[in-house]
Amino acid sequence: MSDADFDIIVVGSGCAGAVAAYVAASAGKSVLVVERGNYAGAKNMTGGRIYSHSLKEVFPDFESEAPLERKITHERIAMLNSDSEMTIDFTSPVLAEEGKDSYSVLRGPFDQWLAEKAEGAGAEYICGIAVEELLKDESGKVVGIRAGEDEITSQVVIVAEGTNTLLSERCLGNARPAPCQMAVGIKEVFELPAGVIEDRFLLPEGEGAAMLFVGDCTHGKVGGGFLYTNRDSISLGLVATISTAAGGGNDTPVYQMLEDFKGHPAVAPIIRGAKMVEHSGHMVPEGGYDMVPQYVFDGALLAGEAAGLCMNMGYQVRGMDFAVASGRMAAEAAVEAIDAGDASAAGLSGYARRMEDSFVIKDLKTFRKWPHVMEEWDAMFNDYPTMAAEVFNAMFSVDGRPQEPLRRRIMPIIKKRGLFKTANEVRKAVSAL
Ligand SMILES: Cc1cc2nc3c(=O)[nH]c(=O)nc-3n(C[C@H](O)[C@H](O)[C@H](O)COP(=O)(O)OP(=O)(O)OC[C@H]3O[C@@H](n4cnc5c(N)ncnc54)[C@H](O)[C@@H]3O)c2cc1C
Repeated sequence: MSDADFDIIVVGSGCAGAVAAYVAASAGKSVLVVERGNYAGAKNMTGGRIYSHSLKEVFPDFESEAPLERKITHERIAMLNSDSEMTIDFTSPVLAEEGKDSYSVLRGPFDQWLAEKAEGAGAEYICGIAVEELLKDESGKVVGIRAGEDEITSQVVIVAEGTNTLLSERCLGNARPAPCQMAVGIKEVFELPAGVIEDRFLLPEGEGAAMLFVGDCTHGKVGGGFLYTNRDSISLGLVATISTAAGGGNDTPVYQMLEDFKGHPAVAPIIRGAKMVEHSGHMVPEGGYDMVPQYVFDGALLAGEAAGLCMNMGYQVRGMDFAVASGRMAAEAAVEAIDAGDASAAGLSGYARRMEDSFVIKDLKTFRKWPHVMEEWDAMFNDYPTMAAEVFNAMFSVDGRPQEPLRRRIMPIIKKRGLFKTANEVRKAVSAL
């Protein structure tokens, strides 16, 4: 029998923390969640769309219970230069199939729902106070937390503090991510009637669209824009790597990039007449597998973005499904270790085994090279959008003068940049995908 105050303390009630608390409390463990926001979701932000597969594993009835905005059935990827847009627009019933489906969410209501599920399962919550330190015994094993005046002990601490990995760095010795591995995200929410959103995106009633942008939205710097349709609002924003945002040679602050993005001809008509009701900013890890730190310690586990679990593929952004799955696996491993009477790193190693066997670590490993390709692929953000605009201008404009064959109009545009150079860049990128 342990004389700790709780079996498990969870730091942070985002997707990872709340799910960990729910799973551990459902298994009969005493669980305390400490969340620094005044309520779950108060400080959280996402683009955002959640791929539902990992949520369904924990909450089979999530579709009827969770505050989901729209099921995403339309995907758009747009390349922008200063005054043009080239968009791939895709829709298919496969996107709506059970297990492959995804939903736009707003983190305020979504995180509160997750917290209610955890509380309903028996987890206790303290909100409005930050955990400042992880307590350790003389052997260095984590045995609890300090929050304000209070020291509270537990057999296991699940650190789900998100992307600002202060506890992990300060108390567990993990390294601070490099600027090129972190991005800053900025987002605004615009209210629009549901019918207007459906008309502007050609959506059947209740369905939604996701749109990712590359090019002029970040003034040609590494990063990208995003847009998600909610029930009666639109989430619009962009991310730029810290090295882009703060590095030399960037003369445009990120907030100005967003202002310009909102005025771009590809975006302005979408939010025409809409009222901006929310503005937020948040960091996001984008370094992929190479930034996953040690995540199993004596008495402690890291889950979600605290463990660097996030992937920006340019055509997919994934963090929440990783957070949900890792929160579940951390809780399962903690319960197993507590039942076996061994909360050392060896006793908690079931977490690493589960993670390695799951899509979380497998996907991060598969796409390990991608963040490096993006970092070095300046052309994707500058030259390609310009080239796309020139190619499509050549293809679609008719001025009454006799036309050259299309290939003679297009080849000079590609040759101007270098046919082999372009082909090599594309080959390198494809090999990382
Ligand atoms: C601009 C942007 C767009 C994104 N788009 C998408 C998307 O479309 N799809 C997707 O899947 N992912 C997206 N992500 C990533 C996704 O939001 C994260 O991966 C996900 O929220 C991580 O969940 P988490 O539980 O690990 O962390 P979080 O959700 O950040 O939760 C961490 C919690 O810990 C609390 N906390 C932190 N420190 C302490 C402390 N010391 N004491 C107490 N509490 C603490 C915080 O207040 C917070 O509630 C996006 C992120 C950004 C920034």
